[in-house]
Amino acid sequence: MTSTALPTTDELRARARACLRNIGAEVAEGEDFPARTPITGEPLFGLRAAGETDVEEALTAARAAFLTWRTTPAPRRGDLVRRLGELLREHRSDLADLVTVEAGKIRSEALGEVQEMIDICDFAVGLSRQLYGRTIASERPGHRLAETWHPLGVVGVVSAFNFPVAVWSWNTAVALVCGDTVVWKPSELTPLTALACHRLLARAAEETGAPRDVHRLLLGDRAVGERLVDDPRVALVSATGSTRMGREVGPRVAARLGRSLLELGGNNAAIVAPSADLDLAVQGIVFAAAGTAGQRCTTLRRLIVHRDIADSLAERLTTVYGKLPVGDPFDATTLVGPLVTTGALDRMQHALTRVRADGGELLAGGNRRLAEAAPAAAYTEPALVRVDEQTDVVREETFAPILYVLGYDTLDEAIALHNDVPQGLSSSIFTRDQREAEVFLSAAGSDCGIANVNIGTSGAEIGGAFGGEKDTGGGRESGSDAWKSYMRSATNTVNYSGELTLAQGVSFL
Ligand code: NAD
Repeated sequence: MTSTALPTTDELRARARACLRNIGAEVAEGEDFPARTPITGEPLFGLRAAGETDVEEALTAARAAFLTWRTTPAPRRGDLVRRLGELLREHRSDLADLVTVEAGKIRSEALGEVQEMIDICDFAVGLSRQLYGRTIASERPGHRLAETWHPLGVVGVVSAFNFPVAVWSWNTAVALVCGDTVVWKPSELTPLTALACHRLLARAAEETGAPRDVHRLLLGDRAVGERLVDDPRVALVSATGSTRMGREVGPRVAARLGRSLLELGGNNAAIVAPSADLDLAVQGIVFAAAGTAGQRCTTLRRLIVHRDIADSLAERLTTVYGKLPVGDPFDATTLVGPLVTTGALDRMQHALTRVRADGGELLAGGNRRLAEAAPAAAYTEPALVRVDEQTDVVREETFAPILYVLGYDTLDEAIALHNDVPQGLSSSIFTRDQREAEVFLSAAGSDCGIANVNIGTSGAEIGGAFGGEKDTGGGRESGSDAWKSYMRSATNTVNYSGELTLAQGVSFL
């Protein structure tokens, strides 16, 4: 199914301009850095990319702002984030429109992404009164041993196109309450949403009396990101994107002994056991695999199904895949919007060619859509492919809607298949057998940072730590004690005894 006609680029440009105007953001037009829309694949505005002097100026300003911000009491820092959350509520619709224009998300998912920003602001405001250290029992009489947490410095945030605003907010809301300042290099594919977020935060800073330079924005491609990566003034580089990017960023930051927090690619799987509620599983699988046109880091890419139910489940999925409405993400009936670029579509087609050559059987989808109406855009039917084994292409992350379906006989075999990929982000099992669920969640089960039961791999909530192992980079953001990545701890020993007692019973002098 293809939903109704696409809007024109002129209409989308006018819509983006109106949203930016409502938010108060300005677009400096006429330069060489284009903002595009995947809805038509065409350019909307020319912007200006940051040059070397812009990076230098931003880092100097953010470092200077840090010196003030770090001594502002944390609950007062929370005031800034609370105000940001209010402004996000006020401009929810404008921001969601910009996410749809620039990342191609359907309206409901774009609104969901903005809701996630609001949720992390709430979370971070609470956190601003809970940056707890602890008191540790000292072995020495008359001594107090304590752990305290202090702001870290400038945080360089490098973000991906597919969550253009949420990932920024996970990092920024938490970093700000932790007393850090932020320099943000968004994806080159999503500069307009970045301009909007930066403006809202600047307004929140003006209104709450926070230093203007608590947040700086640098538009540009990876070269701008590389400058942040290499600059010793950036205490923490929080980089979200492909494993390729992480492999470049991680060693470069480590070479200057800086800190990095890496949130990289996934190759997420769900196991469907014979006892699974298949109605629920089908819903969970289709949202996780085809939602966001397969462009979530947590997108379901592999389905490991017990052989007793593999044929019937594949049949049901084939029927649903045949009816998924593909098209204009602003159309309320659309469930699958465009891929971000035609390059992404080429990579999807290439993966489908490879998996077929490996013996895979295409059960549904995979065809390009709307090529005549929008030749520069990349609409595709999500693809469902039955495979016998995990060949190289199955073990890679292709950032597009391809779901590979594999069979298994024993749970041990399913878990081994599940973990036999380089990535370790998200995972799930559909089962009504509690023992199976517990094995999957145990130390001998899923090796991912996220492991779910009877729900798909995508759609995490704020509050739980988000991130994964192996090629996913090991970072954790947005919940639990992920805030500790944005602070430095100090151990304090205070002697109030009047005598000098050395630890471990050492005597001296
Ligand atoms: P990408 O790696 O192409 O780019 C991500 C960002 O990194 C961009 O801002 C880019 O300019 C910058 N960059 C690229 N190379 C760099 C370098 N050498 N030094 C500094 N900066 C560099 O990723 P993308 O296509 O925008 O996003 C999709 C990828 O991101 C997928 O692999 C997806 O799984 C992953 N992702 C992961 C998470 C997570 O939380 N684990 C979240 C969203 C996306």
